[in-house]
Amino acid sequence: MTVWHLLKIVGVGLMLLLAYQSVVSLQKRLTPLSLFADPAALPSDLDDARVHFQPGGEDCARDVAALMGEATARVVAAQGKPFAKEPIVVVYTSYGDYGRSNGYDDVGILATARSGRVLLSPALCHEDKPKLKKVLTHELSHTHLFGWRGVIAERPPSWFTEGLAVMISDGGGAESVDEKEALAALKDGYAIKVAETGVWRDFNSIPFEKEPKPKGEGADFFRYRQNLAFREAGLFVAWLKREQPEAFAKLLTKLQDGAFFGEAFKEAYGASLGQQWLKFRDGAKG
Ligand SMILES: [Zn+2]
Repeated sequence: MTVWHLLKIVGVGLMLLLAYQSVVSLQKRLTPLSLFADPAALPSDLDDARVHFQPGGEDCARDVAALMGEATARVVAAQGKPFAKEPIVVVYTSYGDYGRSNGYDDVGILATARSGRVLLSPALCHEDKPKLKKVLTHELSHTHLFGWRGVIAERPPSWFTEGLAVMISDGGGAESVDEKEALAALKDGYAIKVAETGVWRDFNSIPFEKEPKPKGEGADFFRYRQNLAFREAGLFVAWLKREQPEAFAKLLTKLQDGAFFGEAFKEAYGASLGQQWLKFRDGAKG
């Protein structure tokens, strides 16, 4: 065997290994919900058939059901249409099942919205119960938007979908960073990058213009960074709505109809996203 042959074999081997690894990491990132038993088949709450629960989750499901009226009304009022399809909410009692179903194989995420279903971590029935109402409303905002938009249309940029959900839920997903702190961070240049495309596939992938610094020793930097990004996105979306409510309503309608974000934005606002972002940034600098 020549050296050339040997190199070829090593090369092909490396390519196969890389291909395998990318498949593995992709699967790890987003395992299709269809691979598991559909959580909608779980029993549902007697008061609200949209709320399903794993064994032992009856009490928490009742609490979720009691919040559904207000949470869905908030989303419908803010996003201007009824739900395309009734949302399904699932209360998990098993962290293992929840992690496998949420698409990230990560039990640290409090909730996700997937395929018309809102999946709630068991933590929302226990230590994170105070966040339940806002987190539920946040996820329902995603379910509503993607319910109308469908799964084929290109996803609007995450700063918009997350900002919308944060605004509607009055801070859900950004609990640890308040508006004042986010405005101060913006003033100091620690701003998220805002573009017409770009999906934050996980919290690590959120881009900043200037990387935020950890706040003191022992603080949960990962959570701070994610909450800061969500709060800044929420502030910008709220500003877009406040400045030009009619343009904002037009943008939402176009997005619900499946339009590409960049075109929908220009048509609704008659200005580029970059121009509007700079106006917001200048305002935040005071
Ligand atoms: Zn979200």
